[in-house]
Amino acid sequence: MNTNIWKVDKYVDNLENNPQVVDAANFLRENEVVALPTETVYGLGGNAESDEAVAKIFVAKGRPSDNPLIIHIADRKQLSRFVTEVPQTAAKLMDAFWPGPLTIIFKKKDGILSEKATAGLATVAVRMPDHPVALALLKTCGLPIAAPSANSSGKPSPTKAEHVLDDLNGKIAGVLDGGATGVGVESTVVDCTEGIPVILRPGGVTREQLEAVVGEVREDAALKDQSARPKAPGMKYRHYAPNAPLYMVSGTKKFLQSLVSEKQQEGLRVGVLTTEENHRFYKADVILSCGRRAELQTVAAALYDTLRSFNQDNVDIIFSEIFPNEGVGHAIMNRLQKAAGHKLISE
Ligand code: AMP
Ligand code: MG
Repeated sequence: MNTNIWKVDKYVDNLENNPQVVDAANFLRENEVVALPTETVYGLGGNAESDEAVAKIFVAKGRPSDNPLIIHIADRKQLSRFVTEVPQTAAKLMDAFWPGPLTIIFKKKDGILSEKATAGLATVAVRMPDHPVALALLKTCGLPIAAPSANSSGKPSPTKAEHVLDDLNGKIAGVLDGGATGVGVESTVVDCTEGIPVILRPGGVTREQLEAVVGEVREDAALKDQSARPKAPGMKYRHYAPNAPLYMVSGTKKFLQSLVSEKQQEGLRVGVLTTEENHRFYKADVILSCGRRAELQTVAAALYDTLRSFNQDNVDIIFSEIFPNEGVGHAIMNRLQKAAGHKLISE
């Protein structure tokens, strides 16, 4: 399949009538799948009401069929078509964070969305992305769009159109290239179907931000306890992994360096994932700075690109610094743990 590349400047006016956006919207209406930029990562969009379109998303990504998709909308009025009720907590969260990196789980109306998109669950995950190109595409096609991240399942999520093409060129109808995404980690997923909201996946909106709007917010037990069964089916899968094994290292820079030296002596090509502040302390084959530790949102923005870069550099093993598990650091550590398959070396 020929994969179209539509370059779009996200700052131009009247994006809804932009020829590239209109082209992409037409493919969506024909139940083809196209990748689109959002403020978190690139998504792979398809008509959420069409089994045919949703099946194409799962095939292109190689995504397990029991992992439901997030439905993207441009207008809150679209909700009533496929959601039974909007609880007060959800309404408050939408007022505060939509458009933005917050996905809300609602009870689903049967018979509207493709059952494949919701993996047969009685609930549905919905979000309104905060990106002018995504919003223009959603408005122009007029459909609810199911969109997981636009990467091959298991790989780091794409934060640039090039990442999408690395994984999906020839497998999808096209990609709207709107430049690099902003937040860099996926949306926070919060379940509002049962009273007190529960975070199922940490992400771009922090627990503290949610609590400031709705009071008490809980976290799914699986986020702390690896043996608990996660309520978001996707959280059980390995994700975001670079080709080489990745180890998180808890301890001093000297300790991390000693691990590097030991592996180099064994003849391995060793990578280090660090930050701009600490880069100069290490000697290794490949040393990549992933943002600035003093501003954790820059680490989130650079994380997936950095993980992907290690593949280009052909390292045999990667040691990574760890980050404070608070604020957006909670989402960063959640993704890093998955990328590492929870491998952690402590001093
Ligand atoms: P992705 O689109 O790959 O960023 O993943 C979406 C996340 O939302 C996955 O972890 C899904 O399992 C989760 N999710 C989607 N729909 C639901 C739902 N109805 N209930 C719980 N989790 C969901
Ligand atoms: Mg994903």
